[in-house]
Amino acid sequence: MSFALDEEHAALRDTVREFAREVIAPAAFEHYERHTFPYEIIRQMGKMGLFGLPFPEEYGGMGGDYFALCVALEELARVDSSVAITLEAAISLGAMPIHRFGTPEQKATWLPRLTSGEALAGFGLTEPGFGSDAGGTQTRAVLDGDEWVINGSKAFITNSGTDITAFVTVTARTGTRPDGSPEITAIIVPSGTPGFTVAPGYSKVGWCASDTHELHLDDVRVPAANQLGERGRGFAQFLRILDEGRIAIAALATGLAQGCVDESVRYAHDRHAFGQPIGNFQAIQFKIADMETRAHTARLAYYDAAARMLAGADFKRQAAIAKLHASEIAVTNAREATQVHGGYGFMNETPVARFWRDAKILEIGEGTSEIQRMIIARDLGV
Ligand SMILES: Cc1cc2nc3c(=O)[nH]c(=O)nc-3n(C[C@H](O)[C@H](O)[C@H](O)COP(=O)(O)OP(=O)(O)OC[C@H]3O[C@@H](n4cnc5c(N)ncnc54)[C@H](O)[C@@H]3O)c2cc1C
Repeated sequence: MSFALDEEHAALRDTVREFAREVIAPAAFEHYERHTFPYEIIRQMGKMGLFGLPFPEEYGGMGGDYFALCVALEELARVDSSVAITLEAAISLGAMPIHRFGTPEQKATWLPRLTSGEALAGFGLTEPGFGSDAGGTQTRAVLDGDEWVINGSKAFITNSGTDITAFVTVTARTGTRPDGSPEITAIIVPSGTPGFTVAPGYSKVGWCASDTHELHLDDVRVPAANQLGERGRGFAQFLRILDEGRIAIAALATGLAQGCVDESVRYAHDRHAFGQPIGNFQAIQFKIADMETRAHTARLAYYDAAARMLAGADFKRQAAIAKLHASEIAVTNAREATQVHGGYGFMNETPVARFWRDAKILEIGEGTSEIQRMIIARDLGV
């Protein structure tokens, strides 16, 4: 039994780690402060093949696995969560639904552009009035001849409004089942389709260099062939995508937690108080030791969930555990790292201040901590 990375994953980790430190870190503060999307960094990540990591080579992918994506996300988030969530959403929420549920034509049309990073796609499940209970979706789609006509709104959609966003896959009610529950279908809506409006970006607490918008669909017409997967299976498809996505978010949260350790170790050497480095104080040493312990256990949890998923075993509970644990310890590590940095930790240019602002959303996005606890308890038969 070994938790060591094999040669391929270790090489990927090292490459992404170097890129994150050399290229992403120096630009992170400016993009964050200005709320600008890091197009040049995304372009370079595309060239490195990061957007194609878990996809087959026939669609321009790298032929790797989902764990490779997680390893890359951990390294990116160690430095910059905005860049990490852009990649996570692009792959896990944007391209993966097409890969998993698309027709050969849909895959041929969209995947090569997505796997190269030339284009991004969004995943529109959440609505202004429905988040955790996204099955209550109010967006409606009606077949009119050979076109779907869609009306409704979506909230908080990542990667939905960049200059390179190609489409958003939205869930919509397409009917009512005999038991009265809604029939929900996923439909691809290309950017620029008449009636599809992208609201200005939100002013967010964290993830400030990532792209998030509310979307409005007003009599939007798309070909019936834009239906993704079977009619009525849209919600079930998205639940499967979210199960996987939780492992990716756990990896991202682990990276942020580890970044807190990196910055705290550095600062413990550099900062002096009472005539000595603050790292000489046991109070600081213990904080850092606890942070490292939390990051380590979070990593083991997401490695386990990913291993189960790749082995074809049940992984729903383990993905929820990994996401719940990693996001909560990321928040704790960010708070503790800020404490280690004292007043400088409260200044935005200090990386841990950014980590602190970026950590909270990890307990909310892709299923809140309360929803993860419900999934775990239900899986235990409670
Ligand atoms: C920056 C950002 C990016 C996002 N990106 C995307 C995206 O790309 N695509 C997308 O579809 N969505 C996206 N989301 C939406 C995100 O997934 C939702 O915000 C999240 O699922 C929670 O939904 P909500 O905000 O409506 O909260 P609510 O569901 O209204 O929850 C409010 C509170 O009630 C609790 N609660 C709700 N139901 C229960 C229950 N049954 N039992 C106990 N407690 C409960 C919640 O845990 C929470 O504490 C994004 C959100 C943000 C902020």
